[in-house]
Amino acid sequence: MAEPPGLWGSRVQLGTPQGIDVDDTSQCIQAPACECCGGGSERLAVVTTGTDIGPLCLTMCDECRDAGEFPLIGIFRAVTRVLDHAGHLGVSVEDLAPHAARRAGPAGAGPGP
Ligand SMILES: [Zn+2]
Ligand SMILES: [Zn+2]
Repeated sequence: MAEPPGLWGSRVQLGTPQGIDVDDTSQCIQAPACECCGGGSERLAVVTTGTDIGPLCLTMCDECRDAGEFPLIGIFRAVTRVLDHAGHLGVSVEDLAPHAARRAGPAGAGPGP
């Protein structure tokens, strides 16, 4: 349980071009169960969603994806997940910052009810 290899060992490139595909899940790690309903269906897939702090990836089953349901996760877990997904994309969190809140309305609005 030392530092995870690869994630923080990679070099951060400053001035990364704008064309980051934040929805690229090719490097994301699929969980053994749906993170929304907890079902261990065989129809799991990694999906991305935008949050106030940045895009992150989740493993969800067919049904939850169809229903458009996303699990409620705490802010600390969300931060971790955004960091994880930045690692999956091979970019820094700063690179993802422009993509934060892309579904959450105007910046500075804060978490809604
Ligand atoms: Zn589900
Ligand atoms: Zn990811």
